[in-house]
Amino acid sequence: MKKMKSIVTGGAGFIGSNLVDKLVDEGHKVIVIDNFISGKKSNLSHHSKKDIKIVKLDISKNKNLANHFKGVNYVFHFAGLAEILPSFEDPKKYFINNTFGTLNILEAAKKVKINKFIYAASSSCYGITKKIPTKETDKIDIKNPYSFTKFLGEELVIKYAKNFNMPNISCRFFNVYGPRLNTKGQYGAVFSNFLNQKKTKKPLTIVGNGKQTRDFIHVDDLTNALIKIVKSNLKNKVYNLGSGKETSINKIASIIGGRKIFIPKRKGETKRSCANISKIRKDIKWKPKISISKGIKKLFNN
Ligand code: UDP
Repeated sequence: MKKMKSIVTGGAGFIGSNLVDKLVDEGHKVIVIDNFISGKKSNLSHHSKKDIKIVKLDISKNKNLANHFKGVNYVFHFAGLAEILPSFEDPKKYFINNTFGTLNILEAAKKVKINKFIYAASSSCYGITKKIPTKETDKIDIKNPYSFTKFLGEELVIKYAKNFNMPNISCRFFNVYGPRLNTKGQYGAVFSNFLNQKKTKKPLTIVGNGKQTRDFIHVDDLTNALIKIVKSNLKNKVYNLGSGKETSINKIASIIGGRKIFIPKRKGETKRSCANISKIRKDIKWKPKISISKGIKKLFNN
């Protein structure tokens, strides 16, 4: 049987490289497209050249993107700039990378006949949530440039699905954690900071009173869902992709254990976040398997 071929943009990053592992296990040939600004070669160094091809390029600048898409079955578009706080400093950079970059990837994918296109959208499009758990049809409430650029990317993905009959799916990722989480970010996702702090024997920094909640999904559960989506006949859909469970930062700190300090609140962030995952559960017959306490133990004992 001919090998399936997948492109993973941002494939050297945290979520991308975890997905690459799974695709290689599934017997795919994988083309990783990454500019290696936050992505790392070491995230992929365990793979052999026959399974993956690494292409170093910037999706917002490269004019020959389409050359890499020949014969490709699945496109997973994860490349982009993460982190909310720095997006206030340089919204243009976020727009060029996240929105314009997505347009370029869509144009390249449109030229060939692909079986599925998956876009990594962000749950931050719900802003200050009014309804918990939040459904895909609930109100969009853009609070920062990062969320805006990711949401515009989603709009493009859906417009291309409608206008050009592309097999596109946008998944709104909630708070993803797991191995290879980038621990160098300047502002840091909560798990990046906590991992760093544990390693350097510093107290865990709790923002505000720590009662705020997020929906944390383990990267293994998330990549399992994505593999199921590409094998389905679904297209032109938007899905929440989270655990469906709400966990407070205090709870996370207590599972990890050790000292903690409280630091000032972040402006404009939501107090609660939790995905309603009924739609994806039903459509692909998937459910998350890794509880937060099991996921944390796995992550912190490595
Ligand atoms: N947070 C925290 N300590 C940290 C970093 C983050 O308590 O060192 C909190 C943060 O205020 C937020 C939650 O953890 O309420 C998740 O933050 P993160 O930046 O990981 O994701 P987002 O806010 O974008 O959902």
